Amino acid sequence: MASLPEALAETRLEWDSPLYRMAVAQFDQAVEHAGIHEDSAERLRYPERSIIVSVPVRMDDGRTVVFPGYRVQHSSILGPTKGGVRYDEDVTLGECAALAMWMTWKCALLRLPYGGAKGGVRCNPRAMSQGELERLTRRFTSELLPIIGPQEDIPAPDMATDEQTMAWMMDTYSMQSGFAVPEIVTGKPISIGGSVLRMEATGAGVVMVVARACERLGWRLEDQRCVVQGFGNVGSVAARELTERGAQVIAVSDVSGGLHAEDGLAIEELEAYVRKHGSLAGCEAGRRISNEELLELECDILVLAAREDQVTGENASRVRARMIAEGANGPTTLEADEILAARGIPVLPDVLTNAGGVTVSYFEWVQDLGRIFWTRDEIRAKLAEKLADAFDRVWDVSQERGITLRTSALVAGIRDVAEALEARGLFP
Ligand code: NAD
Repeated sequence: MASLPEALAETRLEWDSPLYRMAVAQFDQAVEHAGIHEDSAERLRYPERSIIVSVPVRMDDGRTVVFPGYRVQHSSILGPTKGGVRYDEDVTLGECAALAMWMTWKCALLRLPYGGAKGGVRCNPRAMSQGELERLTRRFTSELLPIIGPQEDIPAPDMATDEQTMAWMMDTYSMQSGFAVPEIVTGKPISIGGSVLRMEATGAGVVMVVARACERLGWRLEDQRCVVQGFGNVGSVAARELTERGAQVIAVSDVSGGLHAEDGLAIEELEAYVRKHGSLAGCEAGRRISNEELLELECDILVLAAREDQVTGENASRVRARMIAEGANGPTTLEADEILAARGIPVLPDVLTNAGGVTVSYFEWVQDLGRIFWTRDEIRAKLAEKLADAFDRVWDVSQERGITLRTSALVAGIRDVAEALEARGLFP
């Protein structure tokens, strides 16, 4: 039989993309340790369902522009599929397929009754007005109506989408149903059934995982000097939580570049700057550096919270952090993983480290379905408990078997999904 990349190139061109190849290669590495049946592995290599839609939008100048949109549902074995919607110029079917697969392992690792999904629209959201974004969101949601639903597939925010986007999606879906359906999306405003913790959940979860890793390594979080790449939803909250716990954040960056200050940056001031100006561009709170330089700064903990493909075979040997935490999805490539493992730099993997978002999304969905709402402290405590449980399972297996934390996290997720797949069998 041909090896997987060849087989993909021959027969699975639909999803073929560098990110999907990476997701499948990681899966294959983990399968070696998971001890699951090859028939199950074969089924789990491919998404169950993918949809490509054309999203026509009337622009402010009167023209109509058609944007390509996607939704990929990787596995519905454990329950409805769950995953973000991103607006970005790089969105493709293959990218969504990879991200959907990671969501499956993440949900299983956290023991949430979901499979993975991901979707998005290929567009430049920064060049679009609020009105254009609203029309894009509403039309995209309408195109997805046949495949989304509170028991089928539940969207959430991702890159360049936020609670307003989710409110438009919820409203569009509810208008078709004739009544309010808050449980159709998560990450929506609190006024329509959103979670009081959802907006901070991913960043807060990143820091909970980092803190637990520090404990296991015998490091005091207060002594750590941290660098955070990406200053959006995940990165800014992670930076703030790190400083609140006494660690020092010495550099941050966004798409406009980075800022570095050896004696620590004032994160709340940077957040206020971004709220006012839209990005860190023009901010003089520290020495201006490029994103490439930022990744190579000497520090204790490097939090990657921007996007995929940042630490690669090219720059991994120059990373001078003692530990990497993946707030973003797929920021470390396979080649980089090998280099970092050989250098003894632990990588806290995305499927564990950024799972706070989907975990609090799950709480939000449960609350919406039950029409019952928990307090912020209750949600934070439940999140900490879930992440600690997942972290301990991942850490212990990694130590016992001498495998990386990533492989260990994937093994845990893949095993649970495969067990369910085998119990249910193959229909018909
Ligand atoms: P966001 O759009 O709010 O923020 C992204 C940030 O990264 C922005 O500051 C942007 O300027 C910056 N950025 C983009 N390209 C960059 C580059 N090349 N170099 C440096 N900075 C760059 O998005 P987000 O919601 O914070 O998501 C960030 C990552 O986290 C994504 O990979 C996403 O899939 C992942 N993630 C997000 C959540 C969530 O709850 N929002 C949950 C899990 C995973």
